[in-house]
Amino acid sequence: LSYKLEKAFQTLKGQGSITEVNVATTVKEIRRALIDADVNYKVAKEVTDEIKEQALGRDVLTAVSPGQLLTKITNDQLTELMGGRHEDIDIEGNPAVILISGLQGSGKTTFSGKLANYLKGQGRQVLLTACDIYRPAAIDQLKVLGEQIKVDVYAEPENKDAVKIANNAIKYAKDNNKKIVIVDTAGRLAVDEEMMDEITRLKQALNPSETLFVVDSMTGQDAVNTAKAFNDRLNFDGVVLTKLDGDTRGGAAISIRRVVDKPIKFISTGEKMDAIDKFHPDRMANRILGMGDVVSLVEKAQQTFDEEEARRLNKKIRKNQFDFNDFLSQLEQIKKMGNIKDLMGMIPGMGKALKGIDVDDDSFKPIEAIIRSMTNEEREQPELINGSRRKRIATGSGTSVQEVNNLLKQFNDMKKLMKTMNKMGGGKKGLAALN
Ligand code: GDP
Ligand code: MG
Repeated sequence: LSYKLEKAFQTLKGQGSITEVNVATTVKEIRRALIDADVNYKVAKEVTDEIKEQALGRDVLTAVSPGQLLTKITNDQLTELMGGRHEDIDIEGNPAVILISGLQGSGKTTFSGKLANYLKGQGRQVLLTACDIYRPAAIDQLKVLGEQIKVDVYAEPENKDAVKIANNAIKYAKDNNKKIVIVDTAGRLAVDEEMMDEITRLKQALNPSETLFVVDSMTGQDAVNTAKAFNDRLNFDGVVLTKLDGDTRGGAAISIRRVVDKPIKFISTGEKMDAIDKFHPDRMANRILGMGDVVSLVEKAQQTFDEEEARRLNKKIRKNQFDFNDFLSQLEQIKKMGNIKDLMGMIPGMGKALKGIDVDDDSFKPIEAIIRSMTNEEREQPELINGSRRKRIATGSGTSVQEVNNLLKQFNDMKKLMKTMNKMGGGKKGLAALN
């Protein structure tokens, strides 16, 4: 998927602004990528239409390719779709009851243990309750987890009435100073009436402060249908997305949010008891896009790049008037953006290329010194810099004639490259194409 997206954004690379023509291909690729990440087809279409609308006509900063800007727009849009920010669970009550629902194998029992461990870590008194009355092994499974995390587990192996067991657990909690009761329930392999009936009765009887629906993120499109079926009956408060440690991209998060309009509150990323995280829409958007680093590059560039200056430079490049003053100004801009290596590393493919090469702020120092030792005339017309001037500049900047020669050569090569690209792009391509 990541490869596909990179290809999609590649299409846009090096083009000056986002237009109907260059956006259409990319949006199509984004849509395909979202569907690959298990986002429901209809939802993916809606989302990409919105992205397209937002993207069209936006001017692109010199430092940022249109593809990167589109990534940022996509990322923001996906984040917003998943609720914008994290939402906590409600644990008010005496005791507060948290009801765990979902299909068999979705990860309810594992998550119950994790949640208990998580709340215990916050210094709360928690009680786990085994209400899966159909499989004796389910009770043992919860007991083992409880022992592992040192949380009490309430169970009545002989009792076949889930509601009665849960009510007894609440009574036990009150008598034993437990503030939160987590109720693990029975699920089935598919949605059926008996299961729905039981979980609905539990909800009515216990009046939980939080009813969570647990869903396996690897079930793809089915996850949405299951979520809808449970929500129609239970009207749950939040979703837990499990098994995100696999290679699923988590597109189910978008579809579920869109279809049932309930927040995802936790994610589960492994079988161990500490593999639980609060759900953060922005991080999930990054994961789904698989290009998080590009997004932060775009953000950084937007913060610090002087747009006006960028346009001015672009114009000079197009007219083949780029000189050492412009070069210096560009160095300043890059330095403002922070650690050079970090920045270059964010550009796809660059990180690998830079491995083992030392690129840091200091490597620009001699270059700056040399340019600053030039007269303004020399900066604007480098061809004036003859042998004696080179010697003077080297002495003035504390460098060698060799270093001055190198810089002049690099500058000439760069200008040649710019000239070629101006020809190729009919004057439309800017610095972005240099990336
Ligand atoms: P339940 O039937 O809904 O109670 O599901 P379980 O909690 O028993 O989990 C079913 C299986 O999935 C077990 O083998 C768990 O170890 C495993 N499991 C649960 N959550 C995760 C997770 O986040 N990642 C992975 N890799 N496995 C998980
Ligand atoms: Mg279970």
